[in-house]
Amino acid sequence: MIPLVLVGAAGRMGRAIELAVAEVPGFVIKARVERAASLPGGAAGWCADAVAMLAAGDVAVEFSDPAACAALATLCAERGAGLVSGTSGLDAAQDEAVRAAARRVAVVRAANFSVGVAVLRRALQAALEALPPGWDVEIVERHHRRKADSPSGTALALAGDVASRRGAENAVPLFGRGPGRTGPRPVGEIGVHSVRGGTWVGDHAVLLAGEGEWLELRHVAQDRQAFAHGALAAARFVAGAGPGLYGLEDVLAAGHPAP
Ligand code: NAD
Repeated sequence: MIPLVLVGAAGRMGRAIELAVAEVPGFVIKARVERAASLPGGAAGWCADAVAMLAAGDVAVEFSDPAACAALATLCAERGAGLVSGTSGLDAAQDEAVRAAARRVAVVRAANFSVGVAVLRRALQAALEALPPGWDVEIVERHHRRKADSPSGTALALAGDVASRRGAENAVPLFGRGPGRTGPRPVGEIGVHSVRGGTWVGDHAVLLAGEGEWLELRHVAQDRQAFAHGALAAARFVAGAGPGLYGLEDVLAAGHPAP
């Protein structure tokens, strides 16, 4: 059994992972970590800090908050515990804390833990390779009204995929457009647009537009189980991997498909 320390356990993703663990054999939740203000009263197995619980051989799974993610990464490195990290919106210092931890322990970090988005990213590469370079790219993402960051980490990853294919000078992101006389669309611009409202779990569309035709590559997450099962596949990978910073592609390539 792989012992998990679940950080952000009372949140939307924390609850989804709790459900997934009940369905997938091979994992035991050793501790549920939450901010003191959000701890469920009277429940056993919950704590406000991973410091008291995390040990070598554990896998910490966190969908929480950028500051909590960075602190946890440092703790994982000190204790010899693996890390599966899903929080988006990290600043440069927080990102560096995760990278530093990955020099000492196995870390899987992904902007999106769904298998469908991994395939969307591959399909985007195939489309960019096949299409004329002048086709415009726009990315539209939709999320629920409580999402803390914008654009989504997945939208940034998709924009980064376009930049790595076309070159950074030919793929300049523009976050929202207008209002006013914005003028003709510059060549190489990538529009990134964030829609917020209701209870959308996660919807990413990449629009590729040419002369008189366009196509759309789109992934819609209908349920957080799509992310939770990917995170558990990543936890299984981390439990057997050496130090390094890995992505979901590494997990899939190693034959750990989401159950
Ligand atoms: P949420 O707000 O529902 O849950 C976050 C939880 O973390 C909350 O319960 C909060 O109290 C807790 N938390 C905050 N600081 C903490 C700390 N210091 N210690 C312990 N717990 C702490 O949010 P969510 O929808 O579950 O998303 C969480 C993060 O995961 C966001 O950054 C989101 O963008 C990201 N996310 C990533 C993926 C992916 O596939 N990578 C999928 C969904 C969400």
